[in-house]
Amino acid sequence: MICLACNKPSIDGLTHPLCRGKYTIDGAFSAIAYKGIVKKLIYNFKYKPHLADLRNTLVDLFYESLIQNEIFQKVFINKPALVPIPLFKTRLQKRGYNHAQLLAEGLSKKFNLRTAKILQRIRETKSQFGLRLKERKENVKDAFILNTKYSPRGEADTILNTNVFLVDDILTTGSTLFEAAKTLKKNGVKKIWGLTLARD
Ligand SMILES: [Zn+2]
Repeated sequence: MICLACNKPSIDGLTHPLCRGKYTIDGAFSAIAYKGIVKKLIYNFKYKPHLADLRNTLVDLFYESLIQNEIFQKVFINKPALVPIPLFKTRLQKRGYNHAQLLAEGLSKKFNLRTAKILQRIRETKSQFGLRLKERKENVKDAFILNTKYSPRGEADTILNTNVFLVDDILTTGSTLFEAAKTLKKNGVKKIWGLTLARD
């Protein structure tokens, strides 16, 4: 695991104490390594939505791995809400669904946690693949805002005053999670950890 602030190794997946700032993500947990058959499974999951069985299998894997992680168990006591990393609207329209949201909804049932789409992506970002760390950070900078259409408004306010698990499919440098967490923390979320199915 890595510290999402400095991208150096972090044994427990938590952000190094010295790397923590006011709006810094608190840590991230990944279920499986992004290689071999897993790469193929995630590709199929993202681009062949009719494979409903695959979604269930991946959610099972995601869940089983998380519950075996002791650090995750400690963090889980806070009962964070699950917030999927959103797609930009044109990409969502093209694909028809957000894979991160499907994962969040699957985990929501398993963990009995709320899912809340309180984030919105306000611009198209290039794929993070093939970009260097600095370019990745630049690529996602200010890409998110609070989802103003999220209702009920009261529930959004409750979530903004508590804790959140940001959910995505793949973690590489964590620039996307880092940026999304910054947006939520600026709006009052207390603690935020990333949950990704795979770790590149
Ligand atoms: Zn660090």
